[in-house]
Amino acid sequence: MKRINLGILGGGQLGSMLCMAAKKLDIFTIVWSDDPMSPAKEFSDEFIFSNYSDNEKFNYFTKKVDKITFEFENIPSDILDKLNSIKEVLPNPQINKVVQNRILEKNFVNNQNIKTTEYKKINNKDDLISNVNILPAMLKTNTLGYDGKGQFKLNNLEDCKNINLSKNTDFILEKMVNLKKEISVIVTRFKKNEYEIYEPFENKHEDQILRVSKIPANISKEHFSQSVEYAKKISEKLDYVGTLCVEFFIDDKENLLVNEIAPRVHNSGHMTINSHNISQFENHIRAVCGLEKIKTLKLYNAEMTNILGNEIIKFKEKKLQDNEFFFDYLKKEIKEKRKMGHFTEINKIND
Ligand code: ADP
Ligand code: MG
Repeated sequence: MKRINLGILGGGQLGSMLCMAAKKLDIFTIVWSDDPMSPAKEFSDEFIFSNYSDNEKFNYFTKKVDKITFEFENIPSDILDKLNSIKEVLPNPQINKVVQNRILEKNFVNNQNIKTTEYKKINNKDDLISNVNILPAMLKTNTLGYDGKGQFKLNNLEDCKNINLSKNTDFILEKMVNLKKEISVIVTRFKKNEYEIYEPFENKHEDQILRVSKIPANISKEHFSQSVEYAKKISEKLDYVGTLCVEFFIDDKENLLVNEIAPRVHNSGHMTINSHNISQFENHIRAVCGLEKIKTLKLYNAEMTNILGNEIIKFKEKKLQDNEFFFDYLKKEIKEKRKMGHFTEINKIND
């Protein structure tokens, strides 16, 4: 059988881990990124660096690949559409248009009868001031945010007056949730009613950046089954193919709210490389490349910690126990709060 050539757009650590999973499946990876320093360069079989609007590279890439996926949802949508008209892009780029836009995303979730926090569209300062009744709230850029970038906490009218909003403002104001817990559910959908689902991950954030994820999550049976059901329903409604993550809030009144949907493999699922027989990355590749779906099983409980900024220095020297795994993203430059690697500890399941 001919070897599959998988094109991956974006070259961050998610791309690196997709490449590692592909290698195991004997799939050839071609990463295309607009960052010459992409970490995935070290893990892909072939690496293309150029702006995504480069026609020559576009033609080369589309000729070479059989299937296309992405590790970063903010690839310009016209590029994804153009690629998809030549070689299939999975998940379908139409989905990005919804989940990349926080307002459309929340409208979609609420239309499925799944709750989110209260939210308002903000185009200017007057919009902000007239919605002062929902404060305290998070003001977020409606598109293009990640790891808490483009987010501002607003507590009172004074904060609204002081904030500097540019003219063409496209923001969302989200009522602050009194968080009891954050969880996420990762599902890989192969086709209609065919999924592999990981149990909910319990997540701790610091400064809006994921810090620690663990399984099992310390949550009620109701929240466990409800969050899994919601993730399935969302992936089904989106007719999704590949791995998707739904992030949830549990508030102080035990309400389960969807925070956001990530149309890709997700940081909270990195432990699945070590905790499960099939990782979220392998499942994504299996689904996108039309390979066999294998029953996904948890082998261990686990806890994953993100390594930020110069914490990476001491991890490079750490002596690892048999149940500990360290992943160095091989980023050339250390920046404060930048995700530089992660560390996973697995433990026996005692039931
Ligand atoms: P990103 O796209 O950067 O992941 P999120 O919207 O998921 O942005 O926000 C990152 C984190 O910030 C959340 O996981 C949560 O800890 C905190 N946060 C964001 N919005 C709210 C909110 N409305 N109420 C409470 N906490 C929030
Ligand atoms: Mg998030």
